[in-house]
Amino acid sequence: LLIAVEGIDGAGKTTVAHALAERLRVHGATVTVGKEPTAGPWGAQLRATAAQGRLSVEEEMRLLLLDRRQHVDEVIKPALERGEVVMLDRYYPSSAAYQGARGIPVEEILQHNAFAPAPDVTLLLDLAPATGLARIRARGDKPNHFETEDNLALCREVFLTMALPSRVIVDATRGADEVLESAWQAIGNTLSV
Ligand code: C5P
Ligand code: MG
Repeated sequence: LLIAVEGIDGAGKTTVAHALAERLRVHGATVTVGKEPTAGPWGAQLRATAAQGRLSVEEEMRLLLLDRRQHVDEVIKPALERGEVVMLDRYYPSSAAYQGARGIPVEEILQHNAFAPAPDVTLLLDLAPATGLARIRARGDKPNHFETEDNLALCREVFLTMALPSRVIVDATRGADEVLESAWQAIGNTLSV
């Protein structure tokens, strides 16, 4: 079972992914939590360069795809084959949103990602960019140079409009407990139908 948690910066993806994983474990599941870009060589390179200037969108895509290929081959597919639940804090919908916002057609991005298993459920934590940015500042972080309201509005638009199987939109403006309850229900609803 593959669950992707998606949304713009400050939506609460990391918190929700870990809380859902804990709940699933209480229910007896073995859960692997993954985060993209990963801590592997390609992901580390992406994060390091984003902190300074930004790479060209083509170079960014190239590194993201190398990172995802490694993640899929070494972590995601083996865990799925062992029958585990895989919970992802960002996955290819983030590429569609962020690199789509930089001008690569979303269809083209999805084609490049055809090798990646489709999520059984994609939880889209949706909120206004200004709210996400305020949360980032409230936790003591500084949004990076491209995490602007305008850019995140473009990303949000792609998340809300792209073709994605089994996407559930969760209102992420609410508190963490309420968001978690909605996400938990959404997983239950999607998987029982
Ligand atoms: O999820 P997290 O906040 O750690 O994402 C790391 C950074 O990478 C963020 O600044 C996000 O905007 C960026 N990113 C990106 N393209 C992606 C995925 C993430 O520019 N496909
Ligand atoms: Mg972030």
